[in-house]
Amino acid sequence: MNPFSYIRVRDLAQAIREAAIGDTRFIAGGTNLLDLMKENVEQPGRLIDINDLPLSHIEETADGGLRIGALVRNADLAADSRVRARYPLLSSALLAGASPQLRNMATTGGNLMQRTRCYYFYDVATPCNKRQPGSGCGAIGGVTRIHAILGASDQCIATHPSDMCVAMAALGARVNVVGPDGPRGMAFTDFHRLPGETPHLDNNLAPHELITSVELPRDGFTQHYSYLKIRDRLAYAFALVSVAAALQIEGGRIAAARVALGGVAHKPWRNPDAEQSLTGMQANPENFADFARDLLSAAKGQGDNDFKITLAQRAIARALAQAAAGTPQSQVDKQIV
Ligand SMILES: Cc1cc2nc3c(=O)[nH]c(=O)nc-3n(C[C@H](O)[C@H](O)[C@H](O)COP(=O)(O)OP(=O)(O)OC[C@H]3O[C@@H](n4cnc5c(N)ncnc54)[C@H](O)[C@@H]3O)c2cc1C
Ligand code: SF4
Repeated sequence: MNPFSYIRVRDLAQAIREAAIGDTRFIAGGTNLLDLMKENVEQPGRLIDINDLPLSHIEETADGGLRIGALVRNADLAADSRVRARYPLLSSALLAGASPQLRNMATTGGNLMQRTRCYYFYDVATPCNKRQPGSGCGAIGGVTRIHAILGASDQCIATHPSDMCVAMAALGARVNVVGPDGPRGMAFTDFHRLPGETPHLDNNLAPHELITSVELPRDGFTQHYSYLKIRDRLAYAFALVSVAAALQIEGGRIAAARVALGGVAHKPWRNPDAEQSLTGMQANPENFADFARDLLSAAKGQGDNDFKITLAQRAIARALAQAAAGTPQSQVDKQIV
């Protein structure tokens, strides 16, 4: 048992002030942080419980989008009638994640911040540059079935495990944060980082900053979307590969395309140039297969996970075909939310 202190904060200013004291972590739903503490992967000296902060609301934005408070639970977000109607891709991705019990606790901010599921990261008996910078990477040359095929480095080949974040990346969301220097915002796709030489940094949050909300733009791609998650079990398993596909189709041709991948990189993976190449093309299987090959052209397997390259190509083509046909791999109507 590692001793730690615990306080519950009432407002943002107090949260930011308290965060600057000692080795502190915010705790929201606790579904990731408590596991990390029990496994001795993280040993914070102080926990700041943020559950009383006024960040549990979903609000309209001036430009017709939605602002999702950082403490909105994954289950509540998936079930929100506005989200289901205007952002079914997001609702679908949320319902593909974890289990109903976990989704009841897990928060929007915590989901962005959840750490990799790399086996070696959780096994403190093995080296891990993410857990302990400079110690080496147990995964490289080890068991790599769940690891990255895109954007990895010779320091770390871990993946980001979220489903929600893949949909948010595809939808073009923004992340709002507040810290000692005040509030700021960034594109969702700029929030998470690739590992490079600093794999201990998962994201671009500055020290002591707190996520306050995620904003969705007006266009939710309600007609042509699909979230396709490939995993070892039908439920309660992280993605080997997931695809959030969103299309705007006019007269049989693609007017806009968004494709984000989960389970393949250290962050939700998007390539706007490749997406742009679909514009003006016919929404047909040949074009989707060409696009998928293009998107994976730089992919590199680690041995055990070589299968993910073909799997991802097929999943992309399938998700795009489902989106184009208006027959999404939807969880929305299949589960009691
Ligand atoms: C068995 C299991 C299966 C799962 N399966 C899936 C899955 O299939 N798909 C999926 O997407 N997820 C899955 N998850 C992960 C789950 O979604 C995350 O654990 C959850 O979203 C984290 O949210 P939380 O509020 O519980 O975070 P916490 O555990 O409270 O915190 C996690 C991290 O976020 C930080 N944090 C929390 N809120 C903020 C904030 N507002 N600002 C800054 N930092 C903050 C904390 O300091 C901590 O470092 C699974 C989890 C478990 C345990
Ligand atoms: S892949 Fe990354 S998280 Fe996994 S052992 Fe290597 S450095 Fe650690």
